[in-house]
Amino acid sequence: MADRMAFLTTPRSERERRDARERLGDRREVYRPGPPLPVVSAQAARCMDCGLPFCHSACPLGNLVPEWNRLAAEGDWHAAAERLLATNNFPEFTGRLCPAPCESACVLAIESAAVTIKAVAIKNVELALADRAWEQGWDRPLPVERWAGRGDGRRVAVVGSGPAGLAAAQQLTRAGHAVTVYEREDRAGGLLRYGIPPFRLEKDRLDRRLDQLREEGTVLRTGVWAGRDVPGSELRAGYDAVVVAVGATACRELPVPGRDLPGVHPAMEYLTWANRVAEGDRPVSPLSAEGLDVVIVGGGDTAADCLGTALRERAASVTQLDINPRPPGRRAAGQPWPVHPKVERETTSHEECGAAEAGARVFAAATVGFEPGPDGRLGAVRFAEADPRDRGPRPGTERVVPARLVLLALGFTGPEPDALFAQLGLATGPDGALQRDEGFAAGPAGVFVAGDAGRGQSLIVWAIAEGRAVAAAVDRYLRGWTELPAPIGASARALGL
Ligand SMILES: Cc1cc2nc3c(=O)[nH]c(=O)nc-3n(C[C@H](O)[C@H](O)[C@H](O)COP(=O)(O)OP(=O)(O)OC[C@H]3O[C@@H](n4cnc5c(N)ncnc54)[C@H](O)[C@@H]3O)c2cc1C
Ligand code: SF4
Repeated sequence: MADRMAFLTTPRSERERRDARERLGDRREVYRPGPPLPVVSAQAARCMDCGLPFCHSACPLGNLVPEWNRLAAEGDWHAAAERLLATNNFPEFTGRLCPAPCESACVLAIESAAVTIKAVAIKNVELALADRAWEQGWDRPLPVERWAGRGDGRRVAVVGSGPAGLAAAQQLTRAGHAVTVYEREDRAGGLLRYGIPPFRLEKDRLDRRLDQLREEGTVLRTGVWAGRDVPGSELRAGYDAVVVAVGATACRELPVPGRDLPGVHPAMEYLTWANRVAEGDRPVSPLSAEGLDVVIVGGGDTAADCLGTALRERAASVTQLDINPRPPGRRAAGQPWPVHPKVERETTSHEECGAAEAGARVFAAATVGFEPGPDGRLGAVRFAEADPRDRGPRPGTERVVPARLVLLALGFTGPEPDALFAQLGLATGPDGALQRDEGFAAGPAGVFVAGDAGRGQSLIVWAIAEGRAVAAAVDRYLRGWTELPAPIGASARALGL
């Protein structure tokens, strides 16, 4: 029996990272191999098993956090992993990459002068369980009874192989349907493959999951662009339902003078090349930052991934310009517990930036323009303090930094324009995302939209939740009933005021 008062006696401890200097010499994951099980058990035992577990409702997947914490604390790893896999198809991705809104909502994280106890390290327990399930063979391909062709099961096409498409495909395959995933890239995985760098997610973890899907019977057709190589009419004629999970990777532009100079690139172009190098497709990226002064414009995950990548490529210097002011160190008044607050977080890339002494992060910085060097390529970036009223440049505060490579990481405006949308009768809304109803249905009967394509650029945990929910909607559409779980509706949003 785990100690129910452990939260009073055991301090929170998190998964250890390798030394930042060592990390810069390779592309391996930043974390040391998982902590020993007794340490994970002790951390899981800090869970108070609250009557109203806000961690559970803050997780879009509805992960059964107190349940698996208790089982892990008691050392019943198999049962704990089973409870985890009951709600999450890919906990090895969320355990590594989720910003963990569950931890912000943990009752132990209610901050006030008198309470200093820190949240349960939920995400680390999740990762330990996920990795152990793989090691022990508990997360194995499930035997699937195929219904397709026997009157009940149907044929389903999923367009896009990011976490939303893959989760939908796995759920529908396991429900007995014949599922084919179409992916325009040469490898499956979406942003897990060509967005997030290997130092945050080693790609063999993705490959083994794809192998599992194939073994269960999901067909993955890579290098096939739906809407171009396979028209929408063919998808509709050949399948009983179509799920569009094409992501939201249309990059927000920065229309300032010099935008077209050689040397100014969207961040996604840069990260895709870096990931291709890591996959062994090329020895060196055509956009390598090696020896260059680099400026990254933007402040989110994408910017941080560019930073960590540029440092590994041995950039001469890296400056990150974030238009937002420095976030507070603690919850602001308008973001009380259990909301996931906007507070300053040091990413692993920023930690490395400090270790390399090669970078600077400038907050409240408005980019004014890009200037050519003597060779006509990019030579410098001009920026100024951002006026808090309109985020425009404040006169008299301009500075210039040398730059031979600029990476634009200003966020995403929605799905990239695609002939497929008109072919399937889909339309984008005012927010740039593909429109759908609360049950993920869009356009003509039998067409559904899931993931970032319908929600806007979001998080892996939301993409998996959307994939699971759309699978339930598709199954119900095809059979008239479903036993598949639907953790969210299409309009569900994070806890907030
Ligand atoms: C650099 C970066 C870092 C991130 N880091 C994190 C993080 O640390 N934690 C986190 O939770 N989230 C992170 N995110 C967000 C997360 O990756 C996304 O929210 C998630 O991948 C969305 O999943 P999805 O399946 O909807 O779309 P995607 O992952 O974008 O996948 C869509 C797929 O559809 C394919 N496709 C598009 N059109 C077609 C077509 N016509 N035919 C065939 N295939 C098509 C695309 O090639 C792509 O493979 C990050 C995003 C970026 C860009
Ligand atoms: S998926 Fe994210 S929100 Fe859900 S339990 Fe894991 S870390 Fe927390």
